[in-house]
Amino acid sequence: MSPRAAGGCLCGAVRYQVNGPLRDVIFCHCTRCRRTHGHFAAYTACARDDLELVEQRSLRWYESDERRRGFCNECGASLFWERAGRPTISISAGTLDEPTGLSPGEHIFVADAGDYYERPPSQ
Ligand SMILES: [Zn+2]
Ligand SMILES: [Zn+2]
Repeated sequence: MSPRAAGGCLCGAVRYQVNGPLRDVIFCHCTRCRRTHGHFAAYTACARDDLELVEQRSLRWYESDERRRGFCNECGASLFWERAGRPTISISAGTLDEPTGLSPGEHIFVADAGDYYERPPSQ
């Protein structure tokens, strides 16, 4: 099957392709995402089985509260988020090769947004 999308980290030590459909991008303002990404997160998602790691020599996982975040141990890029028991995995939208063909979706955990930027209207 030819991939629908592909992407990777800044240094190229993590590369992936997606062999199925991607969800619209969700913007998460929760404190965990902001601490990880340095700002709010923008995640698309796919079925876990559709994510194929083409290069993962520096991929590491930070696990906490049955959630884990995949990042590059070389350049520090934050690429993946998944929660135990869910059939999907979230992918940081900024790591996708363009054009992504994706559309913006909802903002979540808006109540946790930082005080240094304008909060999106609650949905
Ligand atoms: Zn990297
Ligand atoms: Zn979040």
